[in-house]
This record gives sequence, structure tokens and C-alpha cells, in this order.
Amino acid sequence: MSKGIKMRAARDRHGHRHTVEELQGMTDGGGTAPDLRCDDPSCGCDVRFVPRYQQNRANRIEPVDVPAYIGLTRGSEHAAGCRYDASGRLKIIAAQSDPEFLNSLEDGKRELRLLALHNGLRKHGLSGSAPTVIDSGLTAGAPKTATEVITSEKRLDSYLRTTADLLVLRAMCESDALLAAELVLRLGTKRLPWKQFFFEHDRFDEAWELVAKGGNNPYPVALVGSVRSFHQPPAGAKYKSSFLNCRPLYRKTDDPMRIESFEVSIAHPDASWLGGFPPDAEIVMFGLCKVSGPIENTSPDKPDRTRSVTYVAHKLTLTPKSKKQIVLIP
Ligand SMILES: [Zn+2]
Repeated sequence: MSKGIKMRAARDRHGHRHTVEELQGMTDGGGTAPDLRCDDPSCGCDVRFVPRYQQNRANRIEPVDVPAYIGLTRGSEHAAGCRYDASGRLKIIAAQSDPEFLNSLEDGKRELRLLALHNGLRKHGLSGSAPTVIDSGLTAGAPKTATEVITSEKRLDSYLRTTADLLVLRAMCESDALLAAELVLRLGTKRLPWKQFFFEHDRFDEAWELVAKGGNNPYPVALVGSVRSFHQPPAGAKYKSSFLNCRPLYRKTDDPMRIESFEVSIAHPDASWLGGFPPDAEIVMFGLCKVSGPIENTSPDKPDRTRSVTYVAHKLTLTPKSKKQIVLIP
């Protein structure tokens, strides 16, 4: 499985630069993409064009769109220092992070201590919001003095930055392969597979089920979604939060008139910040989510109104404590 960062452009043998869009046009027109090389001056390794395609997955109502990209050919690797060198980027992130949170292991791998993030997100509010007093029994060693609170807020801020950088890197890669090989996720004594922490759109249902199973003590998850809509509370509304909704995942059931949906939303009182994420933008979000549902809603079928379709909504909502928990994928 490939370990590289997905690329948007590359050069052919003659040094001409081709973007993903140009290469897609070439293949759509029945042509073949030329042999390609990485366009970073320090690199030049062999890369290949992967045209966009649709993938059918079991129980999914719509095929999953896999957008076109340029990735490594089998056996090829970016030179150290190349801007597409994912391993190099991981080293830079690690060098800038708190060793208490992202530490080196004896075998050369690194370990991300998610429990510190989990406890930090559960314990207190950040920048401006009053600390919420939750003593769940998980908060052993909770800071007592004002100085300790400030120190631990600064620390949480640094953990959030590191996590955001790692997740953007993961979202830019072709697969889990690189990060899974170099970075171990640990939650207390438990080692967490990447598949139980990082969820793209096609696995929103698995994320919902996992968070639902966590009950009152959910562990942090990361989700990649594309922005679909923004909702602001109308004047006089009792609730204060605005909502940024991602494109839901739809899943078939045995009954053709019954469809399950998995909807990911972000709730936050700062409407201008949340509304600033443009439609169709790809975002990565992480933190402690809340689940609700399943809630059934029956409405007439569009082409044949004598029949009705039942939608079974499953909602996953993130109320971020820090704006660092939502990042736009470049
Ligand atoms: Zn390269």
C-alpha cells in the first residue's frame, strides 16, 4: 500500500508540468497519461496518475467517489526533504510537539498519547470559556490552582495543535499505511488501531457505532467530511449554537423503503467562524462527539407519492472546545 502524500501536479520526462485536472482530461479523451516524476526540485522520483473512479461498497446506497490524484509508483519513494515526503513531515511535527504527548519509542516509532487529549477536552474550557466542573472520576490529578489551570490549558493547546497537524497529514496521504507504520495511537493502556480513530466519509456509520458504544465516556475520534450546509439560529431561538453540517452517508437496509443516514455536524456559538468554511470544503475534525438517534422519519417517495420512504437518522455532533479542533484540508 502506498505511503505518500497525494499530489496535485507532476512533470513528464520532458519537464512539462501536468496538473491532476489536465491528466484527467487527457484520460477522459481516450489518451494515456505520460510517465510522471515528482516536481519537487530535490526529488524527481517516479509517480503515477490515478484517474477518478467510483467504488461500490457493501450496503452503501451510493457509490463512493474516489477523486483523481498523483501518487507514488510501486517501490518509489520521495527523497528526504521533498515536500511530499510524508515521513519527513511527520518528523517535523514530532520535533515541534510536546514529548509528553508524542513520544519516541525504543523501536524508532512514535506514540501519540490520546488519553492526555481526552482528559484535557473533558476537563475544562479553553480560551475565554469558563472551566466546566466535571468530576467523572477520570479527572485524577486535576489542576487545583489558577497557575496550574493556565499551564494545563497551554499544554492542551499544544496537544491540539500536534493532533491537528497529524490529522491533516493523514488526510493528505493515500492511506493509513505511513502513519500506522510510524505512529502508535495509545489510549491509556490500550493500543488503538488507526481504523478506530480516523474516519473518512465512507465509514461515518462505523464512527457512529463506536461513539455510541462509548456511552458517557466516549474517546476522541477524528472525522473527515465535506461541508454541505450551514445553519444559524433564527432570531429569538432558544438555542445559541450554529451548525456546520457535512455530507451524510446513506446506507441501504433489507427493506428498500428504509434508508439509514449518518450525519456529522459541528455545533459552535461563533457563527461567523463556523460559516467561514465554504460549501464542499474538505475538513478534518476531532474531539469528543455526542451521538443521537436512531430517529425515524417517514415521508412520501419522490417519484411515486403513494409509497413512503423511512429515513433512519443517526447523528454525530462535535461541539469543539477549541477552534483548533476543526481544520481545512489544503
Ligand atoms: Zn518527491
